[in-house]
Amino acid sequence: MIIFVGRSNVGKSTLIYKLTGKKVRRGKKPGVTRKPVEIVWRNKRVIDMPGFGFMSGLPKHVQEKIKTEIVHFIEEHADEIELAILVIDGKSALEIIERWEKRGEIPIDVEFFQFLQELKIPTIVAVNKLDKIKNVNLTINKLIEKFGLSGTWEDYKELFVPVSAKFGTNIEELKKIIDKKLRKSQGLRE
Ligand code: GDP
Repeated sequence: MIIFVGRSNVGKSTLIYKLTGKKVRRGKKPGVTRKPVEIVWRNKRVIDMPGFGFMSGLPKHVQEKIKTEIVHFIEEHADEIELAILVIDGKSALEIIERWEKRGEIPIDVEFFQFLQELKIPTIVAVNKLDKIKNVNLTINKLIEKFGLSGTWEDYKELFVPVSAKFGTNIEELKKIIDKKLRKSQGLRE
């Protein structure tokens, strides 16, 4: 099983479509059920988790509920999840993370990342909207620090992968890394 997680509007459905050729787009209006959407790709279950975090028109308690449901899903399926792809918006992620930090809160993307690490779920952070990022190196190095890791992008080439889902940039590279990590998870399972 492969899962995709990320805030709403980071380009998660666009990326899933680019990778798999399958549409997972759901109604965006508040109040529409936000259940995980499942597709099958290369004989694997691919789960698109509902987008978390702020969405206009969505009350805070609903946001919290979505987050809790995602956490429960991941905990329940931890043994089956071969790979998690955390999608972030490379253009706005740092700004949002810093805003949360200033309020003394743990940014939700960081929280999910650390949660996946704790459960030892192989993870890729797809840094999307590459077309809008001015300095990719700097951005990813800062993200690495915010995610609580030490070192630079050089040390995490298979963890932080910049892509543009909209323009198809670096999607092939992401596919290669996905395949590699899936083979590795498979090996660990056998
Ligand atoms: P989701 O809510 O995370 O599933 O996000 P969507 O896939 O619906 O995308 C949200 C918006 O971001 C849409 O307007 C997309 O066209 C746009 N988008 C997605 N990927 C990219 C990208 O790589 N670059 C840019 N500039 N926009 C993107």
